Amino acid sequence: MTGGDGAVASPDAGSAAATDAPAARPRPLPSRTLRDVGSLVSSGLIDPTRRDALTAVAERYATAVPPAFAALIREGDDPIGRQVLPHEDELVVAPHELSDPIGDDRLSPVPGVVHRYPDRALLKPLLVCPLYCRFCFRREHVGPDGGVLDEAALERALDWFRTHREVGEAILTGGDPLMLSPRRLRHIVTALGEMPHIHTIRVHTRVPVADPSRLDDAMADALETEKAMWVVLHANHADELTPDAVAAVRRLQRRAIPVLGQSVLLRGVNDREDAMEALLRAMVRARIRPYYLHQLDPAPGTARFHVPVAEGRALLRRLRGRVTGLAWPTYVVDIPGGHGKVPLGPDYLDTGNGTAVSVRDPAGRSHVLAAEEAEG
Ligand code: SF4
Repeated sequence: MTGGDGAVASPDAGSAAATDAPAARPRPLPSRTLRDVGSLVSSGLIDPTRRDALTAVAERYATAVPPAFAALIREGDDPIGRQVLPHEDELVVAPHELSDPIGDDRLSPVPGVVHRYPDRALLKPLLVCPLYCRFCFRREHVGPDGGVLDEAALERALDWFRTHREVGEAILTGGDPLMLSPRRLRHIVTALGEMPHIHTIRVHTRVPVADPSRLDDAMADALETEKAMWVVLHANHADELTPDAVAAVRRLQRRAIPVLGQSVLLRGVNDREDAMEALLRAMVRARIRPYYLHQLDPAPGTARFHVPVAEGRALLRRLRGRVTGLAWPTYVVDIPGGHGKVPLGPDYLDTGNGTAVSVRDPAGRSHVLAAEEAEG
């Protein structure tokens, strides 16, 4: 598994099957989304001895595990189960953790809109998700009962976009916009598409991996527009990109909608080199261009997922030169408080040599760039 762009990883590298976890006992696959601790216990995903403690967690933070995701869980704490099953540690809040880590509330001019950057803004038509990630930075807000903009509120949010002509990109997020009906989604896409200054519409979703059948032809049709439409798929582990998930993504790609990938660097999910490599390669195989790898936002009770920045940089540095550049995400952090997103590297420029400019190769060896030296 070495070499340049032509290197091919084992398809199983980093998958749940490749972890050190013992073989799971067979359990029935649920036919419906599991939304409470009782159904997680009955499905064999949670040990009955944890029922009381986890009920307290589930009362605090929304829980949903759709069948497609439940089917991927071999052991409760494997890379898939860890992302969606409640855990006792969620009630332990570290001093640096914040209920609104990236300042959405402070930057919301009207309900459903977040305006952080001059040229783009978020539109959050609902706060419902197909599953509830235990590390979510909006975990204090998302949930099955939460934040669906009624018709009047949605029109106010769309009016905000109509009158802010400096905003050229509308980013649909939530919650998950693909939890809307195709009719309602089409209404939003059409309204944005009719605004002359909106040139780009971006949709962030976890539906293709969480509930692939939901992204059917009607849903994909609802996203069609003459404006530049981009879909950003949130996936954190190669196992999430099942054949059904890839087929759902293809329904978008067949409509000439490019799909980008975004992931969060998560302890126990993708913090190992083989797991990250498998995730990035699985995305590229599915024609999904890895876009962002996010440093975990400090949301309450998420410390068990934290990977230090130095470790994240070292992990990516080890993958550089081994994984095709097509698979290379930008490793970013959202600065707490709503100050924006910045890259975390790793970087390869070596500036410690006076006028000479040198770079480090993936193995850490320094090389002077002769042309730069001549100019200096
Ligand atoms: S799908 Fe997105 S918004 Fe919903 S819980 Fe997961 S990370 Fe949060």
